[in-house]
Amino acid sequence: LGSLHKVGENPQIREDLRQAHLAFTKGKVHTRFPPEPNGYLHIGHSRAIFVNFGYAAHHGGRCYLRYDDTNPEKEEARYFESILEMVRWLGYEPWKITYSSDNFQRLYELAVELIKRDKGYVCNCTPEQIKANRGGETRGPRIACAHRTRPISESLAEFEKMKNGEYKPAQAVLRMKQDLEDGNPQMWDVIAYRVLESPHHKTGAHWKIYPTYDFTHCLCDSFENITHSLCTTEFVASRQSYEWLCDAVEVYKPRQSEYGRLNIEGTVMSKRKILALVNEGYVTGWDDPRLYTLIALRRRGIPPGAIISFVSGLGVSTAGSNIQEARFDQSVRSYLESSAPRLLMVVSPLKVTIENMPDGEVVWVEKPLHPKVPELGTSRIPFAKHIYIDKEDFRTVDSKDYFRLAPNKTVGLFQGPHPITCTSVKTDSATGEVTELICRLEDGKDGKAPAKPKAFIQWVAEIPEVGSPVRVDEMRIFHRLFKSDNPSAAQPDFRADINSSSLEVVKGAMVEVGFWDLAKKAYEHAKGESMERTEKAKKSTGDGERVGDGTPVATSE
Ligand code: ATP
Ligand code: MG
Ligand code: MG
Repeated sequence: LGSLHKVGENPQIREDLRQAHLAFTKGKVHTRFPPEPNGYLHIGHSRAIFVNFGYAAHHGGRCYLRYDDTNPEKEEARYFESILEMVRWLGYEPWKITYSSDNFQRLYELAVELIKRDKGYVCNCTPEQIKANRGGETRGPRIACAHRTRPISESLAEFEKMKNGEYKPAQAVLRMKQDLEDGNPQMWDVIAYRVLESPHHKTGAHWKIYPTYDFTHCLCDSFENITHSLCTTEFVASRQSYEWLCDAVEVYKPRQSEYGRLNIEGTVMSKRKILALVNEGYVTGWDDPRLYTLIALRRRGIPPGAIISFVSGLGVSTAGSNIQEARFDQSVRSYLESSAPRLLMVVSPLKVTIENMPDGEVVWVEKPLHPKVPELGTSRIPFAKHIYIDKEDFRTVDSKDYFRLAPNKTVGLFQGPHPITCTSVKTDSATGEVTELICRLEDGKDGKAPAKPKAFIQWVAEIPEVGSPVRVDEMRIFHRLFKSDNPSAAQPDFRADINSSSLEVVKGAMVEVGFWDLAKKAYEHAKGESMERTEKAKKSTGDGERVGDGTPVATSE
């Protein structure tokens, strides 16, 4: 039947495929998130996750997590695990977890079918010849090589030889017999199968040939009955060959639509570059908080809801988005604004002795954890004769536009009991450095009501008996990893743009005594939020049927 009609145009076959597809999907939206397990997911992927899982959830449909594992040379087990972990962290539960490699046999059979239909041929040209015949760098006129017209039987025999390991990589490839006259390079007989010698993580040494992205992607979408094949705009040109191949082997043809990539300016997201940063010690690992991998953002303390809120706020269009780091930070800040508890902290401590406080007296202050959100609760902090303030909040020389502490000046203690006035300063006789301040607590006991302070500074009390303050061995302040907005344009390469002081390490900082309780609470809160999102996502997959333990499942029968 197929041969009586132009590729893909047999109305009867079309209708049969449509019916079979409908019988499977029952009209529900089916999407997939198809990462190649060759690296950790980055912020850009969160848009792809949001688009695919979000679209399906919104329409009561289903979204697969499909590992596009057809390149054994680059894939590693740790990436598989991390990808699933991050999808779940963002609050989505795959309807099914699948692997392109589960379809290797079926894909192979379709490759044979392609040859039998005279729509594929084995080409023994060298990679250089193939490139030149496809018009070279200038995309000039295309030349059909001698293999293009070899008999079907010969291509079948050659493909068999490829499969049996009789060829080395690059000695033979299977190419689609498309249209060399077409204006679209993706139609110039793109490669369908190549010989690779690496063992595959799931199929071991069984296969010597592996399907390319161009061959695999559309057919796996078809097998899984994807209704909306959503991908980034660099695949616009591939859409034609995507459809060509589904038609050529007469399988259900999903519809591909494209959306723009998300890019953050001032950083790099390519795996090769991040790997170089890790291996060469510029960062401590793939989860270094200066990076934009999802594991790094998680480590930085950014809640998954903030990431989804950021990508959903950008909207989805075909235009790519170049977003400045500052805009991302701003978005995260406004997300955290109403949910993050506030703590007192002194980065660089300067000792203060309150002259009119008796030794051993402790005043407990109950303070809100958030100035505007009482539901976040309160923490109890102690105040006593010895406290610490930040060195930056004291100056020996006062001036009119300066409102914090100086000799004979009064300042408020943020959420503290009373303001303090500096009455004298102790200095190191050798260096002249200020070592301690003597202050008076303006508690009104002398009958004088203190003036209302113009500024309030952070402080912590020193009372070892109650564990105050919490001492921070090492505090890491992360600045931008690169100097410019476009590190990839730097000469000779992106390394030249690295900011050598992106990590600031501070020793000896101090935090209020409730820190550990709060840290625990914040952690529980983040966990709770993520679980809540997952529960919601599960419910929205419609019938609740899912396979979540990572076992491969057959999906197409
Ligand atoms: P990268 O090379 O950056 O890892 P990729 O194009 O190789 O990206 P995969 O790792 O295979 O992509 O990613 C799976 C899905 O995520 C694909 O559909 C891809 O288009 C999408 N994706 C990858 N990067 C981005 C991005 N920056 N913005 C939006 N979607 C992206
Ligand atoms: Mg990738
Ligand atoms: Mg890829």
